[in-house]
Amino acid sequence: MAFVITQPCIGEKAGDCVDVCPVDCIEEGEDQYYIDPEICIDCGACIVVCPVDAIVEEHDMTPDDESFLDKAKKFYGLQQ
Ligand code: SF4
Repeated sequence: MAFVITQPCIGEKAGDCVDVCPVDCIEEGEDQYYIDPEICIDCGACIVVCPVDAIVEEHDMTPDDESFLDKAKKFYGLQQ
């Protein structure tokens, strides 16, 4: 289980989440920030500070959000 950064981050990229993550698992990509699903400890700290509510828990993802988990896995080289 992990948290996933979704559509609202694109074009926003506030980055507040990076500062609060206790395990430093959020990195900036070209069009959005990404959470490393293998390092995230599901603490929820990032959800609270995101100004555009872009972060969702994996089990709360809508079908549209699932592509963002795949995108994050690709970003971290976890999936082709
Ligand atoms: Fe980091 Fe916690 Fe957010 Fe996971 S849930 S990305 S560990 S702040």
